[in-house]
Amino acid sequence: SENILEVKELKKYFPIKAGVIQRVVGHVKAVDGISFNIKKGSTFGLVGESGCGKTTVGRTLLRLQESSGGSVMFDDKDVFKLSNKQLRAIRPDMQLIFQDPYSSLSPRMPVGEIIGEGVREHNIVPKEEYRSYIMSIMEKCGLQPHHIDRYPHEFSGGQRQRICIARAIALKPKVIVCDEPVSALDVSIQAQIINLLKDLQEEFGYSYLFISHDLSVVEHISDEVGVMYLGNLVEKAPKEELFKNPKHPYTKALFSAIPVPDPTVKMNRIILEGDIPSPANPPSGCKFHTRCQHCMEICKTVAPEYRDYGNEHFVACHLYDNE
Ligand code: SF4
Repeated sequence: SENILEVKELKKYFPIKAGVIQRVVGHVKAVDGISFNIKKGSTFGLVGESGCGKTTVGRTLLRLQESSGGSVMFDDKDVFKLSNKQLRAIRPDMQLIFQDPYSSLSPRMPVGEIIGEGVREHNIVPKEEYRSYIMSIMEKCGLQPHHIDRYPHEFSGGQRQRICIARAIALKPKVIVCDEPVSALDVSIQAQIINLLKDLQEEFGYSYLFISHDLSVVEHISDEVGVMYLGNLVEKAPKEELFKNPKHPYTKALFSAIPVPDPTVKMNRIILEGDIPSPANPPSGCKFHTRCQHCMEICKTVAPEYRDYGNEHFVACHLYDNE
């Protein structure tokens, strides 16, 4: 297969419990049946506001939490059907980089040990090459190899994110889920980290699922982009296509929220009215209808079909029913 990852109808529901006996009274459909593929060596960007379920997608497909349905094929293996032993064997192949490099690094461990923990556990290199291997990985990630015995607090925020990236790539992964990897960093540092991820991808052929609330960040790194709203993909297309020709009103609203570098350029800002509805009690029909400027009668009752409109451009919106 040309895809390293194939996600089909992925679902993750969280029970809502109430009362003294904590009876289950409903479910939050955090991820409500989403499908996408990641081609080998490419980046799929997943965008949406906080609370749309994008972090849950990453964690569920890595099987860090049990799914509520759907399937994930990784390298032609059915991830949800693997035994614990089989799962452990492929763990190094699928890595996760988090948003917050401060909390994900143990303060009492020198970086060499942080990066090397998994290397040792999974026997990535022979023992005697261990230290030189870690140093070479640090260098690849733009860290000074001779800082191998320093502790996380001796590094800046950007360097700490480099340590997290080093920890992930030291395991020679095939897929890396990057969950808001630059959101906690200064804008000037963000570009450096994005460029590092791109350079590493070019050199080692990694495939990324790049999760972010920020379309302008996703634009720089993605080959394909999916837009998520309340547990569903509402639009998905190759990046150029999506940025040239966004179709879904929600995607258009996200685009118009990107600051324009040239203040003399006038843009029609679409203001997203109201808060994101609670995923525990999502609107009927099209889940976006409570905030959509184009809402029609049908939108309130009938969920739009998610369809391919050519050029691998998928949209779920009644505005295009007759195309
Ligand atoms: Fe708006 Fe209707 Fe399209 Fe939903 S289906 S995005 S409410 S026009």
